[in-house]
Amino acid sequence: MTEKGTSAQEFDAEKFSISYGQMIAYMDAKFPTTECPQCGKDEGWIADTGNDVEHTDALEFMTIYKLNYVQSKAFRASIAMSCAHCGSIRFIAAHKVLDWIKETPEKNNG
Ligand SMILES: [Zn+2]
Repeated sequence: MTEKGTSAQEFDAEKFSISYGQMIAYMDAKFPTTECPQCGKDEGWIADTGNDVEHTDALEFMTIYKLNYVQSKAFRASIAMSCAHCGSIRFIAAHKVLDWIKETPEKNNG
């Protein structure tokens, strides 16, 4: 029962390199509204960026969260953002974004 985007192997952040621009394009394509499902406000989402403080360009790339499974060494690689009004946190499976980037290369050069 292995889902794409999860693995018991060592986490390689390079495999999950998603730029801020690519993430915005994904959200534009997939989300019909930017309204928060919890509070109903549309005050924007604060997306977490920066995978490595050592790199000056890190803020241009989405932070990838490794959500560890308690029962095994597997994990779900995810992108997180919070509602600017109520702080609700939304997680997006990173492999879905990466699949979309691959499927629509003309829109995702950067
Ligand atoms: Zn909200």
